[in-house]
Amino acid sequence: MATANDIFDEFLADRGHESETETPAWEEDYNKKRCPDCGGLHEMDASECTVCGWTPS
Ligand SMILES: [Zn+2]
Repeated sequence: MATANDIFDEFLADRGHESETETPAWEEDYNKKRCPDCGGLHEMDASECTVCGWTPS
């Protein structure tokens, strides 16, 4: 039987998972970075997307 504590833990775990998936980051493709917003490919030293202007924050 689930206790109130178990339900609360699940609530926290779900929220933690959501914030993790929402964390903006470059996607890496071989030796390139891919913008998660528009899919544009950039060099590994790129700090912002030159296609759409996206930056990891
Ligand atoms: Zn972009």
